[in-house]
Amino acid sequence: MQIAGLQKSSLLDYPSKIAAVVFTFGCNFRCSYCHNPNLIGPKKFRDTQQSCVNEIFERLIEKVSRCRLRSAGDTCDTGLITAISSDVLFDETAVFDFLKTRTGKLDAVVVSGGEPTLQKDLVSFFEKLKAMGFLTKLDTNGTNTDTVKVLVEQGLVDYIAMDIKSPLEKYSQITCRKIDTQKIHQSIKYIMSCGVDYEFRTTVVRSQLDEEDFESIGKLLKGAKKYYLQKFVNTHTLNPDFINETTYTDEEFMKIKEILNKYIDTVFVR
Ligand code: SF4
Repeated sequence: MQIAGLQKSSLLDYPSKIAAVVFTFGCNFRCSYCHNPNLIGPKKFRDTQQSCVNEIFERLIEKVSRCRLRSAGDTCDTGLITAISSDVLFDETAVFDFLKTRTGKLDAVVVSGGEPTLQKDLVSFFEKLKAMGFLTKLDTNGTNTDTVKVLVEQGLVDYIAMDIKSPLEKYSQITCRKIDTQKIHQSIKYIMSCGVDYEFRTTVVRSQLDEEDFESIGKLLKGAKKYYLQKFVNTHTLNPDFINETTYTDEEFMKIKEILNKYIDTVFVR
């Protein structure tokens, strides 16, 4: 596993549970609003590393001592367990050494990214987490239904959170990548029917999504269990121009929620 960061504990990432969060390296999308540009690819990290490393995870990660870096062959005792680039990814063993000290204290481990399903050994990583007795959650952009299926069918995942970037027809525009939206549609349908607890969520940038788009998203997710509208926060974006973007007001979000409630019973704004 290419592990680029670890959050020691979180009350926000797994519903009603205390969880650690493992951040995998690499993503097949390039969302302009991405808050984790140092997770998505080495070049971008090189461009931004001075400012990213200390800022992106600052709010997330407490001091954890003695984390081993794969190629540095050294220990780090910094306040941030985060190292981005193919040269300084986390040693998986070190991550498990840390998690061993948290069995019985943490309920769950969230595997986030980047896009975790790009990792070739993701399934075996989840197997190890389950063997340690943790609940597990996968955060995914939905481009790899097959891997999600394997995790579900082998009983390795307890909660799935899938990003919905936009209506399907706008995916390539929002993600700045050519996307096979059939895969996205397939993942939505599978996640809704697989029996594992789940949520869908959308980061909302005012200039990217309008009322008509939310109508389309509602239709796309019709009958879904839970959907979160996430307010875009203009700090540290992959596309520097997005630092000037905004989201909707609370009042406007209530109207958007009404549109979505025609199709989805439980819609939250966060
Ligand atoms: S899918 Fe997530 S990690 Fe990947 S570019 Fe978009 S916001 Fe960033």
